[in-house]
Amino acid sequence: ATPTALMVGIGKGAGQGILVKDAASLEVARKVDTVVLDKTGTLTEGRPSVVDAAWAEGSETARRILFSLEKRSGHPLSQAVVESLGGERDVPVTGFESIPGQGVRGVAEGRTWYAGNDALLSRHGIVPDARLQRLAEGWMQEAKTVVWFADEERTLAVLALADALKPSSAGAVARLHALGITVWMLTGDNAGSARETARKAGITRFRAGVLPHEKAGFVRQLQSEGRTVAMAGDGINDSAALAQADLSVAMGQGSDIAMDTAMVTILSSDLRKIPEMIRLSQLTVRTIR
Ligand code: ADP
Ligand code: MG
Repeated sequence: ATPTALMVGIGKGAGQGILVKDAASLEVARKVDTVVLDKTGTLTEGRPSVVDAAWAEGSETARRILFSLEKRSGHPLSQAVVESLGGERDVPVTGFESIPGQGVRGVAEGRTWYAGNDALLSRHGIVPDARLQRLAEGWMQEAKTVVWFADEERTLAVLALADALKPSSAGAVARLHALGITVWMLTGDNAGSARETARKAGITRFRAGVLPHEKAGFVRQLQSEGRTVAMAGDGINDSAALAQADLSVAMGQGSDIAMDTAMVTILSSDLRKIPEMIRLSQLTVRTIR
């Protein structure tokens, strides 16, 4: 490919809201045969809201503690939990910590508290309350994300969050399939929620309960099978996978880290720009030959 033609291709992309970092990135895009998509914030809007919640008996102070804990995290799930508890009074939290792909923890009133998924619970040997567990199972079947709230011994609440699929997701996946590209979805979310989101988006290949570092390992595995992988994510906990991919794609509303390192930045949340970008690269290189 001549430098001039590639520059023209990059210019064309820019006109369509697709910012390609350099000529080499545009050349790689043409070879992409596998696209890996993060679920939250990439396939979905990334604006979850709490739609169901159940509390154990005698947990009045617990609400304030959950509020205070989640207030300290910038994760979209945390923001949604905080909003749903709006009006609670803040309590002092020490030793706050984010556990990527699992949740958060902190100390308040002399105890350690956890908010996150079931992997976080089992890691700390906390067995969910049977009534709350039954509710959680039903919610997961409805594609909802489940967030547990627990102290060191027991679960005090379970919340269900819904995050709508972007209107562009199913169309983008169909277009990628039409181009002969294999599409994978990766998520740290539960299997039920993952299955339902994948189904709605028309994706048949997905992995649930994936930790941030495992996302990168998954991309590496595909590459070792000879695949050329593009990864699209919001960078919140997929920056390692983005760095591993042959082509990293950041979506316009992603985090600053994702935008800084990505080889392609899409200036909107529209996933159809991904097949557009691959097509642009194929056409640019074809013209040159
Ligand atoms: P995704 O891979 O879909 O972007 P994450 O890796 O960020 O999701 O999170 C995986 C799961 O861990 C979430 O579905 C949620 O159950 C739990 N989790 C992560 N961060 C938080 C948090 N700040 N508060 C509560 N739960 C969380
Ligand atoms: Mg994410």
